[in-house]
Amino acid sequence: MSGLTTTQAIAGFLTPTAIFVILLALHVVLPAYRVEGYAHRNLGAAPAQYRLNGLAVFLCALLIWSLGLTTAPLDWLWVVKWHAIAGAVALSVVVTVWIVLHEQSDDRSQLVQWLEGRAYNVRLVGHADTKMFLYIFGGAYLALNAVSSAAYHFGQYGAASNVGLFLHSAMWVWFITDYFLFERVQLFTFDIFEERLGFKLIAGCIVVYPLLYPVALWGTAGLPAPDIDPSLNVVWLGGSAAIFLIGWMISRGANFQKYMFKRAPDRAFLGLIQPATVTDGKRTLLCSGFWGASRHMNYFGEILEALGMALALGHFTNFWAWIYFIYLTVFFVSRERIDERRCAAKYGDLWRQYRERVPHRLVPGLY
Ligand code: NDP
Repeated sequence: MSGLTTTQAIAGFLTPTAIFVILLALHVVLPAYRVEGYAHRNLGAAPAQYRLNGLAVFLCALLIWSLGLTTAPLDWLWVVKWHAIAGAVALSVVVTVWIVLHEQSDDRSQLVQWLEGRAYNVRLVGHADTKMFLYIFGGAYLALNAVSSAAYHFGQYGAASNVGLFLHSAMWVWFITDYFLFERVQLFTFDIFEERLGFKLIAGCIVVYPLLYPVALWGTAGLPAPDIDPSLNVVWLGGSAAIFLIGWMISRGANFQKYMFKRAPDRAFLGLIQPATVTDGKRTLLCSGFWGASRHMNYFGEILEALGMALALGHFTNFWAWIYFIYLTVFFVSRERIDERRCAAKYGDLWRQYRERVPHRLVPGLY
C-alpha cells in the first residue's frame, strides 16, 4: 500500500513512541518555570503546581528535525504517516493502561473509567504533569508533521511547488508556537481543569491532535500545485492568511482576556477594556470584549483559522483539504453545548443572566 520496506514500516510504526521518549526526556531535563494552575474540584481550593517548558521542548524538537540529528530524512514523517498512525493508536492503548491502572477504581462503569479516566491529575515521571506533557507531545509532533510534509512536497516538485502548501504548513507552526508561547493560559482551559485522564484524552493527544489534524497535508502534499491564475495569488494567499490571522486574533484574544480576568478580575484587559460582568455577589462572569460578542468567541476564532488553512492549500474542490475544517466546526458546535450545560449547572441563574446579555453561542449576531 505504501511502498515501504518491512524495516521502514516497523520504524514508521515505532516513530510516535520514539518521538514520545525524546520529547519526554527533553521535558524532564530542560529547565522549566513553575506556576500555579487553576483550582478545581478534585484539588479543593488549592491550585496544582506545574512546571512549564513546552516552548523550549518544541524548539529543541524543531532543531533536532532540521539538523537531521535522528538520521531520519526530513520528509520521514510524511512518508511513514499511515504506519505512524497505527503506532500512535498502539501507544495510546499502552499509555492508557499505564495511567488508568495506576489509579484507584471508582463506582462508575469500567468502560467509562477506561474511556474517561479515573484521575484528573497524574504525575508519573518526576514532577512532569502527564496531561501537560501529552499536549507538548501532540503539539510538537503536529508541527513536525507539517514541516515534514512541506519537505516531502518540495522534494517532489522543487521550484514548481505549491506555495499555498508551505503557507498551510507555516500556519500550523504558528498555531503550535502560539500555543507554547501561551502555555500557561492552557492551565485555565477545560481539558486541564475539568477532564479526567483516560483513553479519550490520551488518544486525542497522541493520535488525533498530531496525526489526524494535519490530514489535509496527508492528502495534498503529494499533489502538484493547483492551477490558479498567478494574478489571483494575492487574493488566494493573502485572503487565506488574512482569514487565518483574524481567527487567531479572536481566539487568542478571547482566551487571553478570560485568563487575565480569572487572575485579576478588576483589571482592564490590555489596559483598555474595563471588564463588564454579571455577578451574584459570590461568582462573576465576564460579558465585555470577546465575551460580550458571543459566549464562545474563542471557538469561532479557531474555526476561522481552520477555514484560512483549508483555503491556503488552493485545492478548493479536494475533500482532503476540508476534513479538518469540517471536523473542527462540528466539534466546537457540540463542545459549546457541553460547556453550556456545565456552566448552566455550575452558575444557575447567573448563567441565565449571562445568556440574556450575550445571546449568541459562537458567531456574533448569527448563531
Ligand atoms: P473555554 O476556554 O471557553 O472555557 C470554558 C470555561 O470558561 C467554562 O466552563 C467556564 O469555566 C469559563 N467561562 C465561560 N464563559 C465565561 C465567562 N463569560 N466569564 C468567565 N468565565 C467563563 O473552553 P475550552 O477550555 O474548551 O477551550 C480553551 C481553548 O482551547 C479555546 O481557544 C479552544 O478553541 C481551544 N481548543 C482547541 C481545540 C482544538 O482541537 N483545536 C480543542 C479544544 C479546545 P469556569 O467558570 O468554571 O472557569
